[in-house]
Amino acid sequence: MKILVVNAGSSSLKYQLIDMETEKVLAKGGCERIGIDGSVLKAKGNGNEKVYEKDMPNHKVAIELVLHALRDDGIGVIKSMDEIGAVGHRVVASGEYFKKTTLVTPEVLKTLEEKTFELAPLHNPAAATGLRACMEVMPKTPMALVFDSGFHQTMPEKAYLYGIDYDDYKTYGVRKYGAHGTSHKFVSAEAAKYLGKKPESLKIVTCHLGNGSSISAVDGGKCIDTSMGFTPLAGVLMGTRSGDIDASAVEFLARKKGLSHPDTVTYLNKKCGVAGISGVSSDFRDLEAGVKEGNERCKLALDMFGYQTKKFVGAYAAAMGGLDCIVFTAGIGENTPSVRADVCEGLEFLGVKIDLKANEAKNDGSIRDLSAKGSKVKVLVIPTNEELVIARETAELL
Ligand code: ADP
Repeated sequence: MKILVVNAGSSSLKYQLIDMETEKVLAKGGCERIGIDGSVLKAKGNGNEKVYEKDMPNHKVAIELVLHALRDDGIGVIKSMDEIGAVGHRVVASGEYFKKTTLVTPEVLKTLEEKTFELAPLHNPAAATGLRACMEVMPKTPMALVFDSGFHQTMPEKAYLYGIDYDDYKTYGVRKYGAHGTSHKFVSAEAAKYLGKKPESLKIVTCHLGNGSSISAVDGGKCIDTSMGFTPLAGVLMGTRSGDIDASAVEFLARKKGLSHPDTVTYLNKKCGVAGISGVSSDFRDLEAGVKEGNERCKLALDMFGYQTKKFVGAYAAAMGGLDCIVFTAGIGENTPSVRADVCEGLEFLGVKIDLKANEAKNDGSIRDLSAKGSKVKVLVIPTNEELVIARETAELL
């Protein structure tokens, strides 16, 4: 069976067509600037690439163009749309309305649109738009929703609750949901496979470090805690997000800066993190270049990121009562040796020891073992593959 994976943003739509027998990507690409001037689809298939510069006023036109590209001369990989067995849609927030990957029915669509938008106002409406567009263009094809928070649904109540009035949690659903679940799920399972162990026997901390970063404790194959919270603003400081901050400091900042509540949250999401600390950039490559030029604030931003990430690793080792493996993944986790070294430095007491030379080796897209000889804890770099998890879950559901 072939599964189409769709990741719709407010003005973008990324896709992959995956053959589930081989788990190979047959075609992939993305539409940019949907609803804006100059919209474009960059599509790959059959080892070729094609750029479609075509007006895409909405997601429906975008998905029609994607389906055309999948059958087009040169890059086409299917003859008919009937070859697509199902579509898996990435959805950021599920709240408590959906516990796992869910087949779309009219009722599911209603819940998605009426209940979850306010949990992820930037992401979930875009996903629903992409979903509706697909349903219109491919009315007979089954659609599945795969949630970023799905893998974190196994967290116990003591881990996901905030210390607020319990009735308010019940009434408003204010609790920790987590994010990047498909990535944490994928790399923790890959780690077990690589180590030749059963997932049930392993205590793993997975560090998904990218523009957005989250750290998870995976005990026996199940997530028991994660650093992101009610929204992806929580946890370690990120590219432009503040990470955890005292709620009173938020109110104080709002008052001093004369910002409304929503504007303050926008400030914490867009103007803070390593970009705010360094005053230079949210991109870790720019921060490293800054450090080389002697920029103290770039160094401070990187020091804070390493320190905060390390604290989560330690906390999760304590939560699990042990640690067998640390996994680094995503843009920074896969490509930035200095961050990995900062996180692991000082964790020798837990049995973590990395081989600094192996840590410096270039990312070749394979799984890499950074553990030094005699390290009790395995330290791995594993390229993430969120699309494959979405495709697998969609196929399993069918
Ligand atoms: P997201 O998917 O959350 O947008 P990524 O996982 O792509 O983010 O991570 C982006 C971060 O990874 C940036 O801060 C970037 O500096 C860092 N990075 C470092 N080296 C590389 C590289 N070679 N390729 C891509 N990203 C890199």
